[in-house]
Amino acid sequence: MDQKLKIAIQRSGRLHEGSVNLLHECGVNIMNGVNKLKAEASNFPLEVYFLRDDDIPQYVEDAVADIGIVGENVLLESRKKVAFVEDLAFAACRLSIAVKRGEKYTSSSFLQGKKIATSYPYLLQNFLDEKGISAEVHEISGSVEIAPGIGLADAICDLVSSGSTLFMNGLQEVETILESRTILIKHQDLSNEKEALLTKLLFRIKSVKKAKNNKYVLLNAPNDRLDRIIRLLPGMKSPTVLPLAEAGWSSVHSVLNEDEFWDIIEQLKLCGAQGILVVPIENMIL
Ligand code: ATP
Ligand code: ZN
Repeated sequence: MDQKLKIAIQRSGRLHEGSVNLLHECGVNIMNGVNKLKAEASNFPLEVYFLRDDDIPQYVEDAVADIGIVGENVLLESRKKVAFVEDLAFAACRLSIAVKRGEKYTSSSFLQGKKIATSYPYLLQNFLDEKGISAEVHEISGSVEIAPGIGLADAICDLVSSGSTLFMNGLQEVETILESRTILIKHQDLSNEKEALLTKLLFRIKSVKKAKNNKYVLLNAPNDRLDRIIRLLPGMKSPTVLPLAEAGWSSVHSVLNEDEFWDIIEQLKLCGAQGILVVPIENMIL
């Protein structure tokens, strides 16, 4: 029997769209809508389970799903035994401690004897133990950020990305206890057949990730400046140079990394490059 790889992704919430998009960018077509618990891919041996993110580590540990997409925060809090596969580079956040704005917080000893509300009791307790602080950890499952305002707690430990939710609730972030990424995880003991399918999917994920960090750049260069312009361009091997119909000019094509992109574009202009076009890349197979 031909096996299918079973992937668990979030049914709705902050990771849902990114997870579905990633599969789509990997060329995997998911047929059923998300109203179902389960969907199948039409063009890859993949079955997709839509779950609450908190349940994903357990499903993967139990091999109900072979792989899953989940925040490291959820995985570490769950303490389930699964293996890390890949950093997926979307919806990153941090688990932080925040106190009321205006409180004078100079070190973690501020938290001694305080009441801290969180949905991450295990990770918070670990942090407090490491710092030798004894505080009351009050577990609540949602809307943690309102706890100090309604007198339920002195501080909170919650997920933060932009910090705007904290700000709106009159809180200030004072400690980061975990920098969390969205990751692909797998069951610790996959069959060889499933490992082979995962390798195939992972190859696509890596090429999509790589493409996102890079741009395809086309520009026109006067031939007498070509050397200088080419030296500015890294490219995958070396840039492609084609003669233009207009004598004395060439078209140069190359790939630039996001981190160095603007710097290089500026220098290219200074060197006399014209008509610079920047195009997104869908896949990069190296
Ligand atoms: P579910 O119904 O699946 O249990 P949820 O309400 O627990 O959903 P979401 O708020 O959708 O979860 O967050 C899912 C994940 O998104 C988090 O576990 C975290 O890894 C990531 N994330 C990124 N930014 C944030 C943020 N600002 N706040 C909360 N989670 C974030
Ligand atoms: Zn959840």
